[in-house]
Amino acid sequence: MEKEKILNDACDHFRALVSEQLDRAEKLKNREILDYEKLDRIIIGFCGGDGIGPIITHEAMRVLEELLKDRINAGKVELRPIEGLTIENRKAVGKAIPDDTLSEIKKCHVILKGPTETPHGTGMESANVAMRRELDLYANVRPVKVPEENIDWTFFRENTEGEYVLGSRGFDVPDTLAFDFKVTTDEGTRRIARAAFEFARKTGKTNVSVVTKANIMKKTDAKFSAICREIAKDYPGITVDDWYIDIMTANLLNKNRRSQFQVFVLPNLYGDIITDEAAEIGGGVGTAGSANIGDRYAMFEAIHGSAPRMIERGHGAYANPASIMRAGVLMLNHIGFTSEADRLSSALDKCTTGSGKVIMTGRPDGATAKEFAEAVMKEM
Ligand code: NAD
Repeated sequence: MEKEKILNDACDHFRALVSEQLDRAEKLKNREILDYEKLDRIIIGFCGGDGIGPIITHEAMRVLEELLKDRINAGKVELRPIEGLTIENRKAVGKAIPDDTLSEIKKCHVILKGPTETPHGTGMESANVAMRRELDLYANVRPVKVPEENIDWTFFRENTEGEYVLGSRGFDVPDTLAFDFKVTTDEGTRRIARAAFEFARKTGKTNVSVVTKANIMKKTDAKFSAICREIAKDYPGITVDDWYIDIMTANLLNKNRRSQFQVFVLPNLYGDIITDEAAEIGGGVGTAGSANIGDRYAMFEAIHGSAPRMIERGHGAYANPASIMRAGVLMLNHIGFTSEADRLSSALDKCTTGSGKVIMTGRPDGATAKEFAEAVMKEM
């Protein structure tokens, strides 16, 4: 292809992207934050998802029904099952989230979501990526605790920008070269930084670590880091330090250092990678949930996937619902139901450790999801 033509195509492509991103940045300036305390009734939506999703979500809903029964009877809380977020439906309509399901989701305030399958090679967008965008869930929050090592980390991963916002909109010249784009907006960084510092303030944490690759990504990451430091000025009791992602991945493996870290704030891609590393250190499946938080909506889910092979083997009933129930704890804290959150959290601790541990193997030689839920309700 002639060089002049490639340059013109590239300029047109880049111009369209910049224009679109300027519009997005402008929209971010008008924030309206929902105050749950002012609501007469909080609607909690439950989306089962795929594979083991409906099984574990159903058990989580039963546990929450029991835990919140007084508030439900008083009409202050509604638990609302939402149908349709299944791979069969999504394939049939060719959309990551079918329109009618999305409009039901938008009638709720918070969502507890089962894992959703993303088929390889179909080009279909992941339901999670679509939900983060549609509900503007900009903060992915993941706690990781290892009490015996004094590890108590909370990760705030920016969830809507960076490498992901234009992930399928790169530019390539066949057989020659390829570009991808990474975009951060100042407001996008401010809101994730503020979420991390607010969390640190509310929970009595004394340090926030900003993790980037600002020595290489000199526009996006350097600005991310500078904006986090600006926000930090509003939180005088909280110290802030800066790290590069490469050394931080090593720090998390260093048993002499890792317990010193408390709260992390990171751009999207680094957050994606390091939260999986941290979850593994924290004990993997069952040990934690994940929160996706925006100004108007919030979605909570397990950290694992839909385990399709468990279903193929006929072992779905033996899926471990602990991770989605931990997501339930995050949800209860988020809407301000802290005493119920503590009750569920300590019941889960009792059912996953020590002498009261319910043995979950994922096979018929272990307990079922239903039996696990019953043990949790007994402990509550
Ligand atoms: P996976 O988490 O589904 O499975 C990994 C392994 O962990 C498997 O051996 C599985 O049997 C086991 N496992 C997972 N959850 C379990 C549970 N609750 N109880 C017992 N065992 C459990 O990961 P994968 O195989 O990479 O992904 C399968 C599908 O899930 C893919 O389509 C992927 O896109 C999707 N996925 C969805 C989410 C989400 O919705 N948040 C997250 C990750 C993966």
